[in-house]
Amino acid sequence: MRVIAIGAGGRPQAPRRDTRYEAVLRLALQLHGLNRLILSPPCPTWDKADDVRRGIYRSAGHYCSCGQAACSRRYRVYCPGEGQRISAQADIVRDAQGRLRVQFTLFDKVSARRAHVRRHGTDRSRWPYDPKAKRG
Ligand SMILES: [Zn+2]
Repeated sequence: MRVIAIGAGGRPQAPRRDTRYEAVLRLALQLHGLNRLILSPPCPTWDKADDVRRGIYRSAGHYCSCGQAACSRRYRVYCPGEGQRISAQADIVRDAQGRLRVQFTLFDKVSARRAHVRRHGTDRSRWPYDPKAKRG
C-alpha cells in the first residue's frame, strides 16, 4: 500500500524518497558485494524489522554508485556516469537465538533484469511479477 501524505494546501504530495539505508547499502556492498545473503543487526520488534526491510528495498531502488543523490530520478534507466544500479530482495527472518533480523541480498539491476527476461521471456503479461512495477 502506498501512503500519500496530504500537503498543507490539501493536495496530495508524492511520497518522500526513502534513502535512509543508502549508507548501509554502500557498506554492505563494500563488505559483502553482490549476490550474497547479508543479515541486519537484530531488530527489537516486528514493526521495526518491517521498516528496515522496506527501507533497504526502497533505498536500493534509488541507489546509484556514482554518488549523485538524484541520479536514479533524473536518469531513470542508465546512469550517465556509468554508476551501478542495484535492486534488493529482503526478508524478515529469525536467527538461532530467535531474534528478528532482516536478511537481504543485493543484485546488479541490469543483470537481474536480464536474468528475469532469460527465465520468463520478454512478454511482460506472462511474468509471475513485474520487477519494474511500483511496490510499497
Ligand atoms: Zn549515477
